[in-house]
Amino acid sequence: MDTVFVKSILDQAAKLGALSVRFTGGEPLLRDDFRELYLHSRRLGMKVLLFTNARLLDTGLADLFARIPPLEQIQITLYGITKESCSAVTRDPLAYKETMRGIELLRERNIPFIVKGALMPQNAADKPAIEAFALDIPWQDGRKPSFASAFDLRSRRDFEKRNALIRHIRATPEEVVRLLREQADEKYFLEMQQFCAKFMGASGEKLFSCGAGKEGGCVDAYGMLQPCLLLRDPTLVYDLKKGSLLDGVRDFFPMLQELKVANAEYLKRCARCFINGLCEQCPARSWSENGTLDTPVEYLCDIAHATARFLGLIGEKENAWEVSNPSARIAKLQQTTYAEWAAEQGVANQNIK
Ligand code: SF4
Ligand code: SF4
Repeated sequence: MDTVFVKSILDQAAKLGALSVRFTGGEPLLRDDFRELYLHSRRLGMKVLLFTNARLLDTGLADLFARIPPLEQIQITLYGITKESCSAVTRDPLAYKETMRGIELLRERNIPFIVKGALMPQNAADKPAIEAFALDIPWQDGRKPSFASAFDLRSRRDFEKRNALIRHIRATPEEVVRLLREQADEKYFLEMQQFCAKFMGASGEKLFSCGAGKEGGCVDAYGMLQPCLLLRDPTLVYDLKKGSLLDGVRDFFPMLQELKVANAEYLKRCARCFINGLCEQCPARSWSENGTLDTPVEYLCDIAHATARFLGLIGEKENAWEVSNPSARIAKLQQTTYAEWAAEQGVANQNIK
């Protein structure tokens, strides 16, 4: 998309009442016209949420953010907390220095930002150091940074070697549970009790049970309006070069809510599965992993089952979709105390507040 086209989409969004815009990537600062697009969004009255690795954050841009604040905290992804680990992930020896310089420029000008991480075998040992680094960031408010580790495959499926690499570096279900076991505390357990009481239950035959296309949209680098950031199926995106944002949001997206599942395996499993609240399986993830909208994603299924076992909702060999008494399982979790659960699951932090 050229600058004029992006600006026209921003104009349309503002006219439709959009109050904020997120620039993400890839890396949005790679665009030569980023400053212009930023200023245009702010002139339209929109808050700007920037997701970046901070490497291209220079003095000019930092001064601009100080003068005309984005009004949202900038979110910076760290790929390592040492030169070695950061280079091992990014394959660029300059990455660490440039990211830290970008962070320093924000700090010096008191521009609000927070950090998050992407954990891979190359930087897994950095997690405690990244958490300690985050503690020192005033806008982090003492909260631990979030870490991505269950990476999605490339939805274009144009490069199988790259997908093989992603499969190799993403966390296994055992690793996901090991992290949960390390971090879990009473607050986590109480929140999960509430979450399970509210959000667990079979999804049935409706393809979309999420907010895709209902709460705004996402425009990719080619001007295709997607119902959400991950959903790239060509039949579910709307070409903004051929129609307006209003047409896409008002006339095209509502049809998503009418779509039904056709895949037999999905109907046998996901449609009847009571732990779907713990599972990331959805049309977008099915599309990136399998090239269809309704095929169960085995990787995510395994993570959801491992998490449900960790919470004590299902047994070692049980499949969640075969459980005949889901409400009793949820009720049992509600009656369990943190102390009982932490002892049973070998949770490191067994302190009760
Ligand atoms: S990522 Fe999946 S769950 Fe989230 S909005 Fe998109 S389709 Fe829905
Ligand atoms: S856990 Fe497995 S069966 Fe259940 S919703 Fe997720 S992918 Fe489907």
